[in-house]
Amino acid sequence: MLEVSPVRAFSDNYLWLIRAPADRSCAVVVDPGDAAPVERELEHQGLSLRAVLVTHHHPDHVGGVQALAARHDAPVYGPARERVPCEYEPLEDGDVVDLADLALEFRVLDVPGHTAGHIAYAGHGAVFCGDTLFSAGCGRLFEGTPSQMLDSLDRLAALPDETLVYCAHEYTLSNLRFAAAVEPGNGVVLEALEEVRALRERDAVTLPSTIGRERGINPFLRCREPTVRGAAERHAGRTLDRPADVFAVIRSWKDGFR
Ligand code: ZN
Ligand code: FE
Repeated sequence: MLEVSPVRAFSDNYLWLIRAPADRSCAVVVDPGDAAPVERELEHQGLSLRAVLVTHHHPDHVGGVQALAARHDAPVYGPARERVPCEYEPLEDGDVVDLADLALEFRVLDVPGHTAGHIAYAGHGAVFCGDTLFSAGCGRLFEGTPSQMLDSLDRLAALPDETLVYCAHEYTLSNLRFAAAVEPGNGVVLEALEEVRALRERDAVTLPSTIGRERGINPFLRCREPTVRGAAERHAGRTLDRPADVFAVIRSWKDGFR
């Protein structure tokens, strides 16, 4: 299993630091929105940075890329269909990031919806999915359509149940509050809510999740469940025939949920 540690940044971002299986003094960082906390953690753990992986172009994911890449002379990988503010290796769906000397290998999945060119990195029983899939939630639709985002979430949901899900924000508690509003009778959601509330009370990290867990608690992965569809129909006041319509209603319901 990969050794991954969270680096906290801004109010609720996690910049994930992956330790290289082949050389425990080396690491790769995912979505470094800020260089300073990454530098501190590298120093704290005595690691040298060997590569930077980027999921999408938002500033809280790329803000530290240039400084880190320059200082550590590390290659940067990112989505071919978006702009990363430095020289980088553009990746498309199906590409493989092969960091052979570190014994790290990730397959690239196109997961548009939050942004138009958003990608995820899957490998070693884990997926780094940026702002596409959150625990019990999903990213807002800034550049994509509901059906695009649903397709992207379906791709992630098709990964093996035990896949560890490393998302880029600590939104789990507020997401679960919403999930409980959508499915008040879902015992798995209510149990997760209690568990996560306790974790957040002591400021603990609620990630990684797993794909299997998400399939049980995440309303956005559960658009085809009659309970979720029914809740969306009641909220919208009309019949919703397609899963993408259910998704669209749930997504806009969540946008206004407090
Ligand atoms: Zn984002
Ligand atoms: Fe973000």
